[in-house]
Amino acid sequence: MSSIIQLLPDHVANQIAAGEVVQRPASVVKELLENAVDAKATDIKLIIKDAGKSLVQVIDNGAGMSVTDARLCFARHATSKIRQAEDLFSLHTKGFRGEALASIAAIAHMEMKTKQDQEELGTHIVIEGSKFISQEVAVLPKGTSFAVKNLFFNIPARRNFLKSDTVEFRHVMDEFQRVALAHPNIHFTFYHNGSEMYNLPAAGYRQRIVGIMSGKTNEKLVPVNEETEIINVQGFVCKPEFAKKNRGEQFFFVNDRFIKSGYLHHAVMAAYDGLLKDGSQPSYFLFLQVPPNTIDINIHPTKTEIKFDDEQALYAILRASIKHSLGQFNVAPVLDFDRDANLDTPYHYKDLEGETPTIQVDGTFNPFTDDKTNQHYSKSGSGSGYAGSSGSGSGSYSGYSKRVEPTASWESLYVGLETETESIESAPFTFENEEVTSSLFNDEDVEQAIQKTYQIHKKYIVSPIKSGMVIVDQQRAHQRILYEQFLLNMTVNQASSQQLLFPLNLFYSSDEMTLIEELKPSLETTGFVFDEAQTDHIVISGIPVNITESEVSMVIEQLLSDLQDGIPASSYSQNDTIAKSMAKSLAVKTGSYLTEKEQDNLVNGLFACKDPNISPFQKPTFITMRVEDIDKKFAL
Ligand code: ADP
Ligand code: MG
Repeated sequence: MSSIIQLLPDHVANQIAAGEVVQRPASVVKELLENAVDAKATDIKLIIKDAGKSLVQVIDNGAGMSVTDARLCFARHATSKIRQAEDLFSLHTKGFRGEALASIAAIAHMEMKTKQDQEELGTHIVIEGSKFISQEVAVLPKGTSFAVKNLFFNIPARRNFLKSDTVEFRHVMDEFQRVALAHPNIHFTFYHNGSEMYNLPAAGYRQRIVGIMSGKTNEKLVPVNEETEIINVQGFVCKPEFAKKNRGEQFFFVNDRFIKSGYLHHAVMAAYDGLLKDGSQPSYFLFLQVPPNTIDINIHPTKTEIKFDDEQALYAILRASIKHSLGQFNVAPVLDFDRDANLDTPYHYKDLEGETPTIQVDGTFNPFTDDKTNQHYSKSGSGSGYAGSSGSGSGSYSGYSKRVEPTASWESLYVGLETETESIESAPFTFENEEVTSSLFNDEDVEQAIQKTYQIHKKYIVSPIKSGMVIVDQQRAHQRILYEQFLLNMTVNQASSQQLLFPLNLFYSSDEMTLIEELKPSLETTGFVFDEAQTDHIVISGIPVNITESEVSMVIEQLLSDLQDGIPASSYSQNDTIAKSMAKSLAVKTGSYLTEKEQDNLVNGLFACKDPNISPFQKPTFITMRVEDIDKKFAL
């Protein structure tokens, strides 16, 4: 019987290997930057075009390669960094597998120029899809330049799989930042489509972090320094009050290599125990040095994971040294745990899993009656509400009744209003009893004996209150109401949707289609129903109940423009961004005339919000004017 097994030709083997090493332009950036660092360069330039899809070039002033090495470096398993298996345990370089260049050369057009310091002339090689096109002797400066063009030119499926330029650029940025942070002593410059993104002169860690993150970072950093036998910890953590909602700026480096470690992250979080508001994330930049023989970096092909010999000891040391730093720099007392809960970000439903809590809206609740308020609240308090923060995300939600305190501030505006104090001319101040979640603008005409709100300049709603008057900004107020409604639907309620008679077809560019594809899961939680997408358009068969068919394309346009810079990673901020964007596009605008009923609904709706004072964009939604203030003006 004839044999059927064959050895794969090198170019095929390389192409297969490339699948593991090169997922996207950012992988090329990482490999080339790391090679330049390994070559002991002190100056490294990264130049990319179209998020790296058309060009990734890295120019260094490092050791360069001899003529032979210049050719050999493209062979698989060709490396100068290890010679035998034992060397794996004393690694001082980033690379060691010897497969990056072979892999990249298999799936792109590549050009290399390299010269060693002591040589007169250098080597210029062009290689495309593993095939050497040319090799020449050339006059070159010291160092090496690799230019990688047309990534995945011979694997269309992979090329099509690439995300939008925005997304790919973010990945490139991540890789650049990781390498640049780990090596502050190297001068890095980074250009994208001809504009300079970074120019980072050689510096120390602090300066490098500030150079990459932003000028404001400096004041937020607390240094960490700890030297022990098994580990040396250096770096910075951020003061607790600057902790963020997302995990963007969290970096561990082990022996100058960026790594991810849930375990060590936990150690950091443990050091902050009690100092952070629920769910917020501190930034940190921690550089750990350990003896190379106590780690194994060989466990993951893209090498962002690592195995330590004595993880538990590292955990304890890391936690203790950060705790010490936070204490030493006396950052704890700056925290104000007594701050008004009203000022906190309104929603915090992390990790919503398990049973979905229900919200109960008290239909009879009227914010403009004084004495029965608490009673109403405690009535709804029997159900599980949404306002309590669950902290651990364990799914236990404290009752609605907890809201009585925080909301007291606005209620006080109205206290006593109806206690027959003759002083207000405009007579009894009773608002329609209705569910706060009902649509703002239903057309029912409700005849009202007395007008209690006035719209002025199609911009503000003015209404008398006990102490004087309240002036509500109609656009901002409506944004707040819609924002909370959407957020509530997305995180707690099952959003209901209205089925369209004829599905809507909306056409978008391929970049936009990618973005929409990523947003779909979140949009579905607001009530959108999508049918199978086509290449150039989406098909919508259901929409949220609180929007009309004609508003759909406007809402999506707004979303796309708001998310131009990429989609936030965490689902919390993704929901938040979408809710904000939809609130922005759907809110009634300045310049719109509102009927009395609409004005009422708006004011009622606003004060039923969890955070009525500010719009989702942090602008005041209303102001009050006391009678005394008005009196004073007349006294002049
Ligand atoms: P690895 O980095 O794992 O050794 P690579 O395929 O990335 O494998 O590189 C192969 C070899 O080419 C390296 O070991 C090194 O000797 C050489 N090399 C690659 N890039 C450079 C560079 N920028 N300067 C000098 N030598 C380089
Ligand atoms: Mg390498």
